[in-house]
Amino acid sequence: MKEYCFPDPQDVHQAMVQANISARAEKLWDEGYTYEESTGTVIGPQGQRYHIDREADTCSCEAIKHHGDCKHRIAVAKLHRAKKKAA
Ligand SMILES: [Zn+2]
Repeated sequence: MKEYCFPDPQDVHQAMVQANISARAEKLWDEGYTYEESTGTVIGPQGQRYHIDREADTCSCEAIKHHGDCKHRIAVAKLHRAKKKAA
């Protein structure tokens, strides 16, 4: 089952990066981040804004360009998934 749309890791390094992102995504909302659903924007505790494109499944932050994924995207994916379950 594909959860949170992580691509299959190609090597150990990528697997570690994914585990790290996943762990950080778990704590995202506790760290003061909020999600503005109407605009698909994750807002950081310092006011940083990251746009999550749910269609393309991408995020506007720098991390996703370097690592191929990021905690914002994963956290929002989990949020939507939790909502779906609750509905
Ligand atoms: Zn991001």
